[in-house]
Amino acid sequence: MSTQETQTRSTGGVKRVRLVLAAREHHYADVHTYHFSADEPLPYNAGQYVHVALELADPDAKRVRELSFSSAPHEEHVSFTIDGRSRSPFQLHMLAMQPGDSLQLFKSKMHMLWPVIEECVVFIAGGVGVTPFRSMALDKEHSRVRMRMELIHAAGSEHLFADVLQPLMDEYIATDRAGLAGEVTACIERNPDARYYIAGSPGFVEGMMQQLEAGGISPKKIETDEFKGYVEEWQE
Ligand SMILES: Cc1cc2nc3c(=O)[nH]c(=O)nc-3n(C[C@H](O)[C@H](O)[C@H](O)COP(=O)(O)OP(=O)(O)OC[C@H]3O[C@@H](n4cnc5c(N)ncnc54)[C@H](O)[C@@H]3O)c2cc1C
Repeated sequence: MSTQETQTRSTGGVKRVRLVLAAREHHYADVHTYHFSADEPLPYNAGQYVHVALELADPDAKRVRELSFSSAPHEEHVSFTIDGRSRSPFQLHMLAMQPGDSLQLFKSKMHMLWPVIEECVVFIAGGVGVTPFRSMALDKEHSRVRMRMELIHAAGSEHLFADVLQPLMDEYIATDRAGLAGEVTACIERNPDARYYIAGSPGFVEGMMQQLEAGGISPKKIETDEFKGYVEEWQE
């Protein structure tokens, strides 16, 4: 099998998939999108995450991370967008990857229920927590679902995927830590019956959950994706 081929095998009931790096795209600072090729279909849902394993030189280094797909299922490449600023062995390996290098995926999982039948959804993202929302927004556009869609994106510096997401949203709000609470309050008043999706660091998700519930949004209408291990820039 050539290095360009994707190998799929079953290991103890867990499906493992090998992906080959096609290209890396730089966004800002240490944030990159890694586009991978898969020669055979890799079924996944928009908004899903997966376990990613690398072959690291240091046998004691943590070699598996959970990552959300930033690509939508219909796109040519399978993509992950990662903030590598911790420079951990995992992140250094990702930053050094060259086209043709490979990694392994296993245990795809879902945190956020998608697609939904709703009149309105609101996405609230902290930093690179916006990755699953790129996947979901492109999926909604591709499947021509008619539904109001808003995004509040809080970030310390750049607003990742603004160029792609702004045109897809009925309301696109780029804010920072200081502006976030006010934007969420206004959004709740605009959209009391919407389904809300939150993604970011555990602290970000918890804070947003509390504000939504205090604003009268039922927990049944809130879906969350906690990026355990991720820290937004402004928390450092
Ligand atoms: C469902 C899910 C989706 C994610 N999607 C993305 C994504 O799309 N892009 C992205 O950049 N990151 C994503 N992450 C975070 C990613 O898995 C890594 O944790 C992150 O990239 C940091 O890895 P690191 O090697 O830089 O730092 P690490 O070496 O992992 O450590 C970073 C910090 O987090 C702490 N930490 C590490 N693991 C945990 C844990 N399990 N629980 C609590 N604290 C921990 C460490 O002590 C350290 O302080 C996601 C995480 C989850 C759970």
